[in-house]
Amino acid sequence: MARVLCVLYDDPIDGHPTEYAREDIPKLEKYPDGQAMPKPSHIDFTPGELLGDVSGELGLRRFLEDNGHELIVTSDKDGEDSEFERELPEADIVISQPFWPAYLDAKRLEKARKLKLAITAGVGSDHVDMDAAEKHGVKVVEITQSNSISVAEHVVMLILSLVRNFVPSHQWAVDGGWNIADCVKRAYDLEGMKVGTLALGRIGFAVLKRLKPFDVELYYNSHHRRSEELEKEHGLTWCDNMEELARTCDVITLNAPLTKETRHIVDAEMISKMKRGTYLINTARAELCDRDAVVEALESGHLAGYAGDVWYPQPPAEDHPWRTMPHNNMTPHVSGSTLPAQARYAAGVREILEAYFAGQPIREEYVKVGDP
Ligand code: NAP
Repeated sequence: MARVLCVLYDDPIDGHPTEYAREDIPKLEKYPDGQAMPKPSHIDFTPGELLGDVSGELGLRRFLEDNGHELIVTSDKDGEDSEFERELPEADIVISQPFWPAYLDAKRLEKARKLKLAITAGVGSDHVDMDAAEKHGVKVVEITQSNSISVAEHVVMLILSLVRNFVPSHQWAVDGGWNIADCVKRAYDLEGMKVGTLALGRIGFAVLKRLKPFDVELYYNSHHRRSEELEKEHGLTWCDNMEELARTCDVITLNAPLTKETRHIVDAEMISKMKRGTYLINTARAELCDRDAVVEALESGHLAGYAGDVWYPQPPAEDHPWRTMPHNNMTPHVSGSTLPAQARYAAGVREILEAYFAGQPIREEYVKVGDP
């Protein structure tokens, strides 16, 4: 019997929904690169329903309890008195989402004496101290690709919303105004701009592919340069490093994982290399950027806008400056938790658990620490 400790975000303030805006969600056969969708033997949820909140339970309760396991679900994750920290010493498996991360730092992993498996229901496991997980023999897995396109669509929306000055214009309409000049004094066309991504992974590449029809110039820096053939096919221009990307582009989207190399890659000095009026979009991880450098650059006007959905810590304090800095289009961490994304990562979590309980290997592409 396993004790499964699952940390999920709170239910909506008006309660777990009983009806939804749409009747169903599209059925996708495979991911864009051909990788198979999660394939558990069975699911006990309806795709398109809210699964990532406490009452949604990632659709896992029946499966786990029918098989003799115990499921503990909580949103109370921070501090020594939290339910998460109290339950951690007895947990065999922890499940957490990047949107509401149960931070598993070295100290907590020390306490988690029985823990064998940490599952990220989503993509990006930087809330787990990977070195400490390795040291304690904890396998870390995530649902690779489950929300990459969800995030890429969000990035395209954020780029357009910043460049077109959409959010303040919408606010004028809501407030009963008709202030055209107020709306358009910061509105530009994306057409003709230079757009660059830091990292040409699944999200970065999907963003550039989606932007190509906007007749923009596309730039990228990544760990590895792509082939001349691929660059030509997609109209991509290589930048040798982040600094070259910063100097070149009008719009920069950050899509790299948070690592020792990428932490604070965008600091005050890097921002100073950017053109005045650059738009910066970050849906990867907040700590890619120096928090206060972003605020200062928006206040001085060096950055024309900043948008994203990732913060540190999560949830951020009520007075976190990114909530109120000028020309920001920030939201809570939502881009990768659309209802279709939830259906994919909930199915992925179930697939992992089925394999793990059966003593079978977990898909290699899911494994971040440990053996499949
Ligand atoms: P991915 O397919 O694994 O792509 C990551 C890419 O980062 C790889 O292509 C790699 O380059 C590149 N990279 C790694 N280190 C780099 C460095 N130092 N400089 C430049 N490029 C570097 O992952 P993904 O699905 O695109 O996701 C990317 C990140 O987005 C995740 O790690 C996560 O933090 C974040 N994310 C956020 C959300 C959300 O809801 N906001 C959801 C999903 C993911 P090469 O391919 O060239 O080796």
